[in-house]
Amino acid sequence: MSARVKAKVGSTVVEVEGAGIKDVIQALSPYYDVFSEKECGKCGSQELGVNHRKAKTFDFYSLKCLSCGYRLDFGQHQEGGTLFPKRKDKDKNPIENNGWVHWQDRQEDQAQTTYDQPPQAQNTYDPNDF
Ligand SMILES: [Zn+2]
Repeated sequence: MSARVKAKVGSTVVEVEGAGIKDVIQALSPYYDVFSEKECGKCGSQELGVNHRKAKTFDFYSLKCLSCGYRLDFGQHQEGGTLFPKRKDKDKNPIENNGWVHWQDRQEDQAQTTYDQPPQAQNTYDPNDF
């Protein structure tokens, strides 16, 4: 018996079809890995967007906090084309903020990607301090 299921995953609604309950769960499961993130691990904002970047032949997928700009990057499973949140670094150590990183922190992982440097913070001096 085929089934069509509409499920609310985080703030997203996903609709899948399958031949039965196993197919439906199999089809829905990858969406929970991506869309069930409720808030930014850095600032707690619930204003999250999705982000795709292409660098040369590589595609990068992430959630982006629309408040502070931090990102939760997704790794790509070798089979099936599904994604998983990267919460550990290359040495399997947990990444702080539950995997949410500032874009500069991931620059070394994506050496081919070049970014313009943001302006440096200005030091302000109070003349009364001298
Ligand atoms: Zn944030």
